[in-house]
Amino acid sequence: MSRDFIYSGSPAHIVFGQGKSAAACEWVEKLGCTGALVLSTPNQKSDAEALAERLGSRAVGVFTGAVMHTPVDVTEKAMEVVRETKADCIVSLGGGSTTGLGKAIAYRTDLPQIVIPTTYAGSEVTPILGQTEGGRKTTVRHASILPEVVIYDPALTFGLPVGMSVTSGLNAMAHAVEALYARDRNPISTLMAAEGLRAFKTSLADIIARPWAPEARADALYGAWLCGTVLGTVGMALHHKICHTLGGTFDTPHADTHAIMLPHTAAYNAAAVPELLAPVADIFGGSVGGGLWDFARQIGSPLALKDLGLSEADLDRAADIATENPYWNPRPIDRESMRALLQDAWEGKRPA
Ligand code: NAD
Repeated sequence: MSRDFIYSGSPAHIVFGQGKSAAACEWVEKLGCTGALVLSTPNQKSDAEALAERLGSRAVGVFTGAVMHTPVDVTEKAMEVVRETKADCIVSLGGGSTTGLGKAIAYRTDLPQIVIPTTYAGSEVTPILGQTEGGRKTTVRHASILPEVVIYDPALTFGLPVGMSVTSGLNAMAHAVEALYARDRNPISTLMAAEGLRAFKTSLADIIARPWAPEARADALYGAWLCGTVLGTVGMALHHKICHTLGGTFDTPHADTHAIMLPHTAAYNAAAVPELLAPVADIFGGSVGGGLWDFARQIGSPLALKDLGLSEADLDRAADIATENPYWNPRPIDRESMRALLQDAWEGKRPA
């Protein structure tokens, strides 16, 4: 196997540790900023307001309208607040939806971002923005989108409900699985991907037993950093294409969609590149798809697309969209195989 690779490290500052979200004030100043706009979803409004209070005069406003899949109309509303408050930096507190809104603002304004993630989605360490308009999700990659500072504070994830911890963790694991066979993978991305998968293998099982266990929460957030970093470094393939199709067109919940699809897309690609996916089989046991499916079931993940409200007829449209302009994939993609894979995922079957 060829050893050729290109490696570029991320310029982002990563701060990791219990209680470290208190350093947000310091980081606003280190960035040379004086007026932060704090972002959150409506659910995390009170946390965002409390953060703005802690930032004191360094905060000029709070916008709590972030929603899943970064709809462009929500970004436009937030942009009005950016203009009114003359914010000179963004502080995003929350999961991938809030981070997505911060990135959408940064893409339009080049404002620096501090992200304090509270899920395992991994968006905070990628230069990728997915936006939705007119029922289609499109992604853009640009240097201005990568947040300058990420503060990982496991204490903020203690209350992440167990079900969301599971699906969010599987969402992060999907980045690592696809990184293992990425065309532009490098030795560091492969090491990070395998380490991220190992971190989630142990921590998710522990979180189910003890959701407030600090070590398990720290390990899962460590896994999120690893898996998110590889998502930001190397190209994604079939799995991400299908999940973007389902999320963008049918508005299925992001993390659940990834959690359900992962064993199926991994099994599909394992047929072509078993040697590259060997770490997955080693960590989860058995076959790549079967091991991931058994793990997902053991930790109580949703397993069937039909439980997300998709109809069988939707699968035809999803298979069409997923095979239009497909991403590069280690195994060729055709409509018939995609339709069959979606059918298995819809029924919640264990991959063969
Ligand atoms: P989310 O951000 O939508 O969060 C889901 C819900 O959980 C929200 O209501 C949120 O407020 C709440 N929540 C978050 N953290 C919580 C906590 N600790 N305790 C209690 N409630 C909490 O979900 P997500 O899965 O993190 O993000 C999904 C979005 O992220 C999608 O739009 C997806 O496309 C995007 N994403 C983008 C990238 C990228 O690199 N561009 C990567 C991963 C995900």
